[in-house]
Amino acid sequence: MIMERPMPDRVNLLDLTPAAAAESLAAAMRELGHPSYRVGQVVRRLWQQPASDFDAMRELPAALRSALAERFSLPRLALTARQASTDGTEKFLFTLADGQAIETVAIPDGDRMTFCISSQAGCALKCAFCATGAMGFQRNLLPHEIAGQVRELALLDPPVRATNIVFMGMGEPLMNWKAVDPTLTILNSPDGFGIGARHITVSTVSAPSSSASRSRSTRPRMCCARS
Ligand code: SF4
Repeated sequence: MIMERPMPDRVNLLDLTPAAAAESLAAAMRELGHPSYRVGQVVRRLWQQPASDFDAMRELPAALRSALAERFSLPRLALTARQASTDGTEKFLFTLADGQAIETVAIPDGDRMTFCISSQAGCALKCAFCATGAMGFQRNLLPHEIAGQVRELALLDPPVRATNIVFMGMGEPLMNWKAVDPTLTILNSPDGFGIGARHITVSTVSAPSSSASRSRSTRPRMCCARS
């Protein structure tokens, strides 16, 4: 797969919450002279029914697809390895645009499919027996790299779709709250992945930061597990 890097001259729609993406798209549609209903069509293709790129949004006129690709980016994560266990659990290794590698695990259990996702490349905490901790901290992930793990698996053929999310992959989510906060909105929003708040667990080994605590008070049903 050819990875599209986030371009500084284009707005990365996948780093935005659905509401913020809709706002940016609405301004572009006005400028380009396209009807406002096109905004909803594009937003739907960000997370709900993800499109691999603008060209795959065949419900849009070709001229609009090209114009959007000039203004906005939809950066992908490269799936570089996929490993299945006999119990049905699958491990996915993604390579990011700067070469960092992160892991996602999909765990089936009856009707549920839980994704264990990463929030950082490496980790600054050094919990005993954790291979990620032994690697050391590389960098924080951006929202499109965290929610992108869910998006990439939904783009597979056949798609692998999450019913539940746990932040128990690489990294300590509360140490990257700036990106985890909008990612929770993308995961939970009906215009994003629409995963119920009770089905999303932010697992932490650290004391919650004040911003995370404040935000959780506005997300009363979101689970936070301390390990
Ligand atoms: S916080 Fe998580 S990823 Fe980091 S060292 Fe501990 S167990 Fe590993």
